[in-house]
Amino acid sequence: MDRSTTEKRSEVMSKIRSKNTKLEIYVRHLLFERGFRYRLNRKDLLGQPDIVLTKWKTVIFVNGCFWHAHQGCKKATIPETRADFWRQKLDGNRARDQREYATLLSMGWRVLVVWQCACLKTRSEALGTLMESFLRSTISFAEIGRDDVEGDPSTLTSEEDEVHQH
Ligand SMILES: [Zn+2]
Repeated sequence: MDRSTTEKRSEVMSKIRSKNTKLEIYVRHLLFERGFRYRLNRKDLLGQPDIVLTKWKTVIFVNGCFWHAHQGCKKATIPETRADFWRQKLDGNRARDQREYATLLSMGWRVLVVWQCACLKTRSEALGTLMESFLRSTISFAEIGRDDVEGDPSTLTSEEDEVHQH
């Protein structure tokens, strides 16, 4: 791999990281608002979950739909260029996630996956409510995606841009 490709890639990756951080802050805010307290990125836990709620024995992953291959999500379509490469890479990411969730579950943690596509401001009430009901339940694993937090479609686009384009 030549230098320019490497630089380009690290630039792209750093953009993705800051975008993910925005999503994490958003999800944390919703939890905080509802009185939940948490720790961030506990390095000693497998997969370094984004949010850890020790009291609730729960770890939350805030996943980008593309990089974590959100199944059936339009934000997670395979690029046409080098499709085989991407398919293999993204399938690998997804498989790794699944292994990590399984291990955390076997350690007694509950695992909640919040997908990027569920993080829209117009739906924050729905997302917050879903997270709260998961935390207060005895369910050990759940995912929250766009379909789970249907909101007012008329304000969707601008709100989505506000959350995602930084
Ligand atoms: Zn998605």
